[in-house]
This record gives sequence, C-alpha cells and structure tokens, in this order.
Amino acid sequence: MYQYQGIDDTIVGIATATGPGGIGIVRLSGGDAIGIAGKAFRPKNNKEISQCRSHIIHYGHVIDPRQKVDGEYEVIDEVLLSVMRGPKSYTAEDVVEIHCHGGSAAVKAVLETVLDAGARLAEPGEFTKRAFLNGRIDLTQAEAVLDIINAKTGAFLKVSTHQLKGELTAELEVVREDLMRVYTEIEAAVNFSEDDLDARGRAQIAGILNSGLGKIRRLLSSADQGRILKEGIKIVLCGRPNVGKSSLLNALLKTPRAIVSAVEGTTRDTIEETAQIKGVPLQLVDTAGILEPRDLIEEEAVKRSRMYIRGADLVVLMLDASRSLSSEDEKVIDGIEDQKVLVVVNKDDLEPVLREEDIAARLPGRPVVRVSAVKKKGLGALENAVLDLVLKTHSVDPHGLMISNLRHIQALKKCEEHIVESVNLLQRGDVLEVVSDDVKRAVNQLDAVTGKNIDENLIDQIFSSFCIGK
Ligand code: GDP
Repeated sequence: MYQYQGIDDTIVGIATATGPGGIGIVRLSGGDAIGIAGKAFRPKNNKEISQCRSHIIHYGHVIDPRQKVDGEYEVIDEVLLSVMRGPKSYTAEDVVEIHCHGGSAAVKAVLETVLDAGARLAEPGEFTKRAFLNGRIDLTQAEAVLDIINAKTGAFLKVSTHQLKGELTAELEVVREDLMRVYTEIEAAVNFSEDDLDARGRAQIAGILNSGLGKIRRLLSSADQGRILKEGIKIVLCGRPNVGKSSLLNALLKTPRAIVSAVEGTTRDTIEETAQIKGVPLQLVDTAGILEPRDLIEEEAVKRSRMYIRGADLVVLMLDASRSLSSEDEKVIDGIEDQKVLVVVNKDDLEPVLREEDIAARLPGRPVVRVSAVKKKGLGALENAVLDLVLKTHSVDPHGLMISNLRHIQALKKCEEHIVESVNLLQRGDVLEVVSDDVKRAVNQLDAVTGKNIDENLIDQIFSSFCIGK
C-alpha cells in the first residue's frame, strides 16, 4: 500500500508546449507557491499577491529580483498571474500560474527566475501526481489526463473525458461495494457463526458475485473498441503489384505520400500512415505487394507484411476491376484467408473485366466495395464499410464507458478470474475461508485500478510517462 508522506516543497514547470505561440504558462504548486511567485512578480496595482483573494488574475511584470539597474528591477516579461489557493486548485495545493509570452525565450526566462526565487523544477507528471496523492483525483482520472493530452481524435477525447469525470471509478465502486458486502458476510459467517452458510445463503452470495462479474465483463468487452479509438483501426492494404494500393492510400490520406508508379513493385517496403474516418483514427499500412522476393530487402518486406497482416483489425484486399483474377491475386488471397477481409475492387472507372461471380466464388461471404482510387469514387462507401466491419463487431457500453488502458484491462481480467473462482468454490461447497480469499483478491485488483492500493514504484512509472509541467 502506498503511504503518502506529504509534500512540502514547491515545484515549477512549463505547462504549455514549447515553440512559438501566443502565450506560455509557467505553473507553480506547493506550500510556498504564492510567496515564491510574489518575489518575482511586480503587480501593476502594487498589491501583494499574498494578500489578494483566490482565483483572481493580476496584471504585472516578472522581474529579476536579484538586481536593480538604475534603481529599477530588470523586467523579464509582461505577464498575467493567477492565484488558486488550495484545496480548490489542480493539485489541491496553492497554485500560481504565470501567463507570459509564448515562444521558448520568454517562458524559459520566467521559469529560471522562479527557480532562482526558490522553486524546484517539477518532475514529469508531478502536478497530476500531487493531485492524486492529495486525494483530489484517483488514478484512473490521472491517467485520463494523460490520455486527453495525447488524444489524436475527438472520439477518443470523449472516452477520456468520461474517465476524467470519474465514471469508470464510479462503476468499479459499485462492484467493489458488492464484493465487500460478500466479503464481510463470509467473514462474519466464518468468525461468529457455528454453522456454515446454508445452500440458500451460498446461492445468494453467488448471485451478488455474478452481478459484479457481469459489470466487469461488460467493461472488458469494451476494451477492443477502447483500444481502437485510442490507437486507431489497424488496416493493412494487400494486393498484387500495380493494383492501386498506393493510390488508394493517398486518396484516403487526401495528400500524396506513397510513391505511385506504373512500374510494378515501386513500394519496396511497408508504408504506415494515420488517417481518420468520422473521428476514428486509422493506422494504414500499405504492404509492399511483393510476391516473389528478389533480394534480402524484399524478403524482409514480405516478412513484415505477414506480421502486419496477422496483427491487423482489418485486411483490405485490393483487386483490379479491369483484369480477371490472376495467379498473383490468388497468392495474395492465400496469405490472408484467416483474416477479417474487406474486398476492394479498384479501377472501377475502367472497362469491367473482373466479374462479381468470380469474386464471390473465390472469396465467399466477404464484403465487397467498388472504388476508383484515381477518380476518388466510392471512397465514402469504403469508409463506411470499414467502420461497420471493425466497430460493429465490438460491443459498446450504452453509457459510452470504455476502457482502453492496458493496466486497467490486465487488472480487470485478474479481478474477473478471482470472481469466477470464488463462485466456483461457493458452488462446489468449498470452505468459506478460501472463498473469501478470492473475493478479497478481486477487490485488490479493483483497488489497483483506482489507485487505492498500488505499489509506489508503479505510481512513479505511471506518472513518469507524463510530460514536465503536467
Ligand atoms: P500499387 O503497386 O498497388 O501500389 O499501385 P499504384 O497505386 O502504384 O498504381 C499502379 C497504377 O495503377 C498507377 O499507374 C495508377 O495511376 C493506376 N491506378 C491506380 N488506381 C487506379 C484507378 O482507380 N483507376 C485507374 N484507371 N488507374 C489506377
């Protein structure tokens, strides 16, 4: 169990991204945040910020308090400064934010001045870590902050904001309460009663455990979709050389990236790109389309293609509408037979040669869309087919609650195992002590997710993946 020892120093970090920008924010947090900021800040109205009310913005200058030139302190930058006294602040400590000019020079100069005035440079994620350690947010909410910062699409942003609001914790808390009720009942039966629970009592407890199990399984079933929204749908484009893979990739990306050429085998290696369909990220991989490797590089490319195909959420098999199925197409089809496949018949602008019946005979039951990559025809239908095929097969929680974090997934899987085991033990009529042991282990896994019960090293590891200033 992590024992919070209390934090007594004041930290400072640059909260905004580096590089040119309108404003940059230098943030302080800690018991002496207001005192330290006050040393480096000269308010226009000459009022000491330590005497001012909380959550008010002050206009003034950051100055170098170490030296005066001609009786005046040197001005570092013109700034707005806000004071948020704890516990009503991000970290639940006193927080000061200095809004200075953006770009690296002004922000760095303000940071250095504040460091000189007595603050310590924050470690990565230390502001959010303090919010967690001070009990303002739990671990799932802290992780949601990181997800929001890294979210590449609106769809994943929504998932993360649900989590930041504490909805995942609330759902887990319902399960935890049930498990704790069961645990207490069993412990009472073990310690204070002469008799074992009767069959009815055991069935009742199994019922409560099964209801919790249902909730955990619903969350786990959202994990695939959560991962897809976080990382993107992994799509691999397959097809013989010259079928139009690079052209389709470019059409989906809406900017030319892959080299398109009439010479077969131009794409020597796999090309990876990201795109979006209706806010859902795509990770597109254009495979080399090499069928008979001629050298070591091509052999490696073929190996990589196979690896991508195995890990794909969807394989897009491209065929050429203007040609009948060739032995080359056959070879590609042989390599993807076990995968989820969408058949895309490209070059639909040309005289049709490839017949629907031939496709249906060789690829029975596989969905087919017809497109023209160069004329940009049929791309909307292709995008809809991709979303239908990948997202509709994953169940979705009606309230939009999803899990996407590997740590949560692993802990909830273990929680599931312990609940299943405790139900089995109950039903087999095993001794109650053993049952209660598994119930407690299930509770511990839930507590690991929310951070109620988690190892100090793991906490450090989680926050170290944040950026400095967050
Ligand atoms: P890849 O080898 O599968 O990546 O194929 P490319 O994208 O390099 O395309 C090979 C050739 O087919 C190029 O000359 C493209 O312009 C042409 N091509 C690709 N898509 C279409 C299409 O939809 N219609 C027509 N008419 N030609 C296309």
